[in-house]
This record gives sequence, C-alpha cells and structure tokens, in this order.
Amino acid sequence: MMEPVKRIVVESSRPIHGRIQYDYLKMGWNLSVIVLAFIFAPVTFSVNAFLLFLFTTYFTLLVGHSVGMHRMMIHRTFKANIYVRRVLIYIGVLVGMSGPFGIIRIHDIRDWAQRKAVCHDFFSHKSSFFRDLWWQLTCKFEFDEPPKIEIEPSLQNDKFLIFCEKTWRFHQLIIAIIFYYLGGWDFVVWGVFVRVSLSIVGHWTITYFCHNPGPGRWNVKNSAVQASNIKGLGLITYGECWHNNHHAFPESAKIGLEKGQWDPAWWFIKAMSKVNLIYDVKLTREEGKRDDLVDVS
Ligand SMILES: [Zn+2]
Ligand SMILES: [Zn+2]
Repeated sequence: MMEPVKRIVVESSRPIHGRIQYDYLKMGWNLSVIVLAFIFAPVTFSVNAFLLFLFTTYFTLLVGHSVGMHRMMIHRTFKANIYVRRVLIYIGVLVGMSGPFGIIRIHDIRDWAQRKAVCHDFFSHKSSFFRDLWWQLTCKFEFDEPPKIEIEPSLQNDKFLIFCEKTWRFHQLIIAIIFYYLGGWDFVVWGVFVRVSLSIVGHWTITYFCHNPGPGRWNVKNSAVQASNIKGLGLITYGECWHNNHHAFPESAKIGLEKGQWDPAWWFIKAMSKVNLIYDVKLTREEGKRDDLVDVS
C-alpha cells in the first residue's frame, strides 16, 4: 500500500447520503462568464485576440492548474521554495475556476468519494454529460454528514494563499484592465471571458470522460470509479487525460507513463527541475507497494 496525501480527517459520512443543491455564487460566476463570452466573442473576434486567448488559456492551465495546483499543491509530487510555489499556484488562480483551497476541496472530496465502494453520481460523473456539466457548473453536494477536510498548515497558514482564496475572482479584473490597455475590448473578451469559459467547461468535460469507463491498465481495488486514459488528448490536456495512470499513481509527477502518452506538464516539470527551480520530483512507487492495484492489461 502507499500512503496517499490524506486531508479528509473525519469520514463517518458516506458520499451517497445527501442531495444536490444549487450553489448560487458558483452558478452566478460560471454562467455570467459563459453568457458574456457567448454574446461578445463573435463581435470582438480578431486574430490577435484569438492568439492571446490560445496562449493565455494554455499557459494558465498547464503551469498553474496542472503543474502548480494539481501535481504540486494537491498531490505534492515535487517540492519548491515558497516563492516558486506561490507563483505556480497564483498562475492557477488566474485560470478563474476557484481559489487554492477551493480547488483542494473539490479535488479531494471527489477523489475520496470515488475511492469508496459506492458514491453519488455527482462525484462519479455517471449521469449524462450535459446534466453532469450543469451540476458541476451550478450545484454543490449537500452531505447529510459532511466529511471534514483538514488542509496542511503549510498551505492553510500561507498569507498569500489566504489572500488568493478570498479574492480569486477579482484577479480577472486586474487581467482585464491590463488587456484593455494592451488591445482594447477584443483582448478583454477573448483574454478573459472566452478563456475562463473554455477553461471551466473544458476542465469539467475532461473530468467527465476521464471518470467514465474507457481504456486503462490499472484498477484501483474497492473503488466506485475506475478512471480512464483518453487517447489523443495528451497535448491539449497537458497530460491530464492519462487519468487511469493518475488514479493508480497519484504520487507521480509524471502522468503519461507509457510510450506515446504525451505529457506536456511533465515536460515542464522536468525543465524546471533541470534549472533547479523545483526539486524532489517523485515518480511511481515501486512494484512491491502496489497491492491496492490490479493490472488489467
Ligand atoms: Zn488528482
Ligand atoms: Zn480523478
């Protein structure tokens, strides 16, 4: 067995007992951004605005979300000094999906629920694609007995992260002002509204398909959900689409483990470690410690 990062400390609750309820703050943020993008994107299109959108979406999701928040902050697959850590997480805040602690809660509660023998469709993504997307964009799961999640003091007491958690939505305003001065409304619409919309919807789309049946070498024993590896999406998901590998080896900074599984976030991690910006990069645990897994290949 391995020792995973464990933040759920009280788990008398079961991820099946509870109900889905609207979360009006979440709904307000997600739907306003998406609706504004829909209305204004066609009338503000320009090649420069489109290139800005492509670059900023790719950059923030790869460096901030996949490397900074997911592989470093959540799974601790490598270490970095506090300044590098804050920069990586801050770029993740700029994605516009949630604050750092919010992302940890979303990720850890879902992952904890999926590793139980049964869990609600809200966590297993077993419902239809559009219903699931609607839930994730507008709802929360109200537990009868909520699990208690304890975030480690090194993150919980970091004043910069506390600040980011309180203010994460406002950072889009800062970007919008900068983009307005650089290129006018075209840049604001494509660099903020279209980017944030695509990041959020893209994230939940990939999450949906990665947690539904599909190819993958590993089964995690006694888990309600087996994740899948989705072929052909390595480049546009920064390697996160090799999600079957990730459920089997959450401790590994490298997610694209087999030949041909492209993993751009891993390439970025390797480059940062070469120039000593990060250290202690972890890979998959050794063969003797895999008794929670079944190789079904
Ligand atoms: Zn994860
Ligand atoms: Zn997962």
